[in-house]
Amino acid sequence: MNAEDITTVKSILSQPQKIAIIPHKNPDGDAMGSCLALYGFLKEMGQTAHVIAPNDYPKFLKWMPENDSVINFERENPKALRLLEEATVIFTLDFNDLSRVGQMETALKAATADFIMIDHHQQPNDYAVVTYSDVSMSSTCEMVYNFIRFLGETDTITKDIATNLYTGIMTDTGSFKYRSTSSKTHRVVAELIDRGAENMEIHRQVFDTNSPSRLHLLGVALSNMVILQEYSTAYITLTQEELDAYDYNKGDTEGFVNYGLTLEGIIFALIFIENKEEGIIKISLRSTGDFSVNDFARNHFEGGGHINAAGGRSELSMEETVARFNEILKSYKSELNP
Ligand code: 5GP
Ligand code: MN
Repeated sequence: MNAEDITTVKSILSQPQKIAIIPHKNPDGDAMGSCLALYGFLKEMGQTAHVIAPNDYPKFLKWMPENDSVINFERENPKALRLLEEATVIFTLDFNDLSRVGQMETALKAATADFIMIDHHQQPNDYAVVTYSDVSMSSTCEMVYNFIRFLGETDTITKDIATNLYTGIMTDTGSFKYRSTSSKTHRVVAELIDRGAENMEIHRQVFDTNSPSRLHLLGVALSNMVILQEYSTAYITLTQEELDAYDYNKGDTEGFVNYGLTLEGIIFALIFIENKEEGIIKISLRSTGDFSVNDFARNHFEGGGHINAAGGRSELSMEETVARFNEILKSYKSELNP
């Protein structure tokens, strides 16, 4: 954020505003953490704010402070629509293109509010009066911390705000191991612990609250894994039938895709997950090094994200999607196996 942006934000927040805070569809720890932290901060500043999530999110995030205040756009549609219509300021967090909110897109496009974007994904769209976009950042939560710092308000960071920010940084950095984790990230995290974030408890809440069926589903995913050594690639498939057999709940497949990258010599990992209700195969893509899954997802699977973590989709059947993927992969052979 440059000096002009900071002045603009200060001037906006110097007046009472009606604020809506929006994460992307299928929000993850960083999306919810950043929204809930900003919500807590804006409340501390005396503002009226609401977090409106486009749809539901996993149980392993529902312990987060202020979780009960979240409005679900699908379940509380009239209320959400009214708040978006009345909003004078709309923050969009952890995404940079209005198509990332699914069904909520029309309401956001119709809104008359000033938009403020805080996000770390590639290629931001131009819809906000203030665009705080930085692809070098570990997480949107680290950026929300900076946002509060730019306003000179770090002293207002409560234990709840610190907890939400810590959660998002932790989940988006793979527990502080991805390339985007900088010494600055660690300094922010240290500050959050000083302000009350209980790091051990946050790790436990997110990672050590598995159900037996989720671990069994992981077993199925791992045995379905296909390893293509000649492409340094590993992919997993999970059909709707397999999900149903293991009592699938939202979020149960979170992190499964990363197992492919734990194989020696594998630099590109994917998971294809069937969603019968939406009639799509949801694809998660991960890489290590310079192979850009953002480009791959953008070019072939209507998606995007970051260089090393992206998502996409396919409207073909599972079988056809995997066949198409294998065909596409052929043209990447030299890039993946130089
Ligand atoms: P995940 O695989 O965990 O759903 O997403 C990985 C990353 O890619 C996240 O940063 C997420 O925001 C982004 N992402 C996931 N799905 C999509 C998509 O359909 N379009 C775009 N542009 N980004 C996505
Ligand atoms: Mn993020």
